[in-house]
Amino acid sequence: MFNIVIFGAPGSGKGTQSDLIIKKYDLIHLSTGDLLRKEKSKNTELGKQISLLIDNGNLVPDDMIQQMVKQFVLDNKTAEGFIFDGFPRTTSQAEWLDSMLSELNEEVSLMLALEVEEEELKKRIMLRGKQSGRADDANEEIVANRIKVYKERTKPVMNYYKQQDKFYGVKGMGSIEEIFDNVCSTLNKLK
Ligand code: AMP
Repeated sequence: MFNIVIFGAPGSGKGTQSDLIIKKYDLIHLSTGDLLRKEKSKNTELGKQISLLIDNGNLVPDDMIQQMVKQFVLDNKTAEGFIFDGFPRTTSQAEWLDSMLSELNEEVSLMLALEVEEEELKKRIMLRGKQSGRADDANEEIVANRIKVYKERTKPVMNYYKQQDKFYGVKGMGSIEEIFDNVCSTLNKLK
């Protein structure tokens, strides 16, 4: 399997680039944000709990998201590989992902990090909020909290993959096509 962890701050373009990557490299897109929003829209007890957390820009508990990730991977075991988007978001999720994949005799192939300046991130998120109506995108305070949570809890995940020599940074500024060219030139060297 070719398993990519796509990484970056909120608004760095992970979802957009993932959609392009899965087509070109025949991978399956596992977006934990999408899984959570789907559960939220069901309006179940679990959906309501999720809503309270994500609408305020906070992370959901590790065990809750890990269960969803494991189920998704098991449901798609014949895939050529996965692109993990929005996961792992904490170092303990990264450790868990390694052990879950190793039970399947698989591993993370690399982390691809989209590097975008903070002002550009804020602009992109507010624009997405206007277009999509995502509650966690439309409010400046919540966006600021998500960036804070990213810096405190998620950024350290980069070091986890750096220590394993699996970290690849890519310039995430410019047009979608330019960024995708940067992504492909990195992936083509590794696949
Ligand atoms: P995203 O679509 O990746 O920006 O995720 C939207 C929101 O879902 C995040 O702000 C978190 O509240 C929640 N979320 C997504 N992935 C995770 C994760 N791996 N761990 C905890 N919370 C997550």
